[in-house]
Amino acid sequence: MFTQTDRSAWICGGEIQCREQPAEVGRAYHLILLGPPGVGKGTQAELLCSRLGTCHLSTGDVFRAAKDAEDHQCSPAIRTALEAMRRGDLVSDDTVIDMVRERAACLKCRIGFLLDGFPRTVEQAMALDSLLTDLNLDLDGVLSYELDIDAIVDRLSGRRTCEHCGAVYHVAARKPIVDGVCDHCSGALVQREDDRPESIRVRMAAYEEKTRPLSDYYREAGKLVSVSAVGTAEAIFARALQTLGV
Ligand code: AMP
Repeated sequence: MFTQTDRSAWICGGEIQCREQPAEVGRAYHLILLGPPGVGKGTQAELLCSRLGTCHLSTGDVFRAAKDAEDHQCSPAIRTALEAMRRGDLVSDDTVIDMVRERAACLKCRIGFLLDGFPRTVEQAMALDSLLTDLNLDLDGVLSYELDIDAIVDRLSGRRTCEHCGAVYHVAARKPIVDGVCDHCSGALVQREDDRPESIRVRMAAYEEKTRPLSDYYREAGKLVSVSAVGTAEAIFARALQTLGV
């Protein structure tokens, strides 16, 4: 199975093409992942993409990559987002929506998409709906991973992320072959700034207030697929595939 690792188009926007393209594509899935921070979405995204052949599109990854990018590599919406972040402000719905609109070519890509971190608010979801209608695309489902808060705190404090390719590990549950080194690209594994306890509390509060209503939004639209996030990554993955009917 082809696994997309180059995401130049998603990072840069516009007409930029990814360097790697699969020769053959099966069905193009159009999926959204929902769930609080620490529920294991990054790991599930990796597993789903390698099984379904879709491209993992994470707005958080785009922002992290943009921080290290040259100014001329950044699209107009990315520049606005970076300015907001430098001021210590949240990135506004309008800016994130503009950023996704600049990447319409990615949404139409023949390998499909798995959106992660977007939409984050009902306003973003409504904007995405109208963009998908314009592009004549329909969502296959919105996978919503459910887990109680104590288990989430446990998982987050042990999470380590590759600073080069973004692959996600856990100090106990998903160890790399060599301690502190990414299995895929040999990049260094670090604890993300926003996985530290004080950041976790802020992110959980923001999630409850702004993102929970998304579950209701997609339930009403008949798109919500609830998946229990209890157990190992492999067990959760098997549950998601079964629920999706893949
Ligand atoms: P994540 O990796 O999804 O946790 O995203 C990391 C950070 O990027 C978040 O804490 C936000 O500041 C920003 N971000 C990512 N996606 C969005 C979005 N859809 N709307 C607003 N901010 C976002």
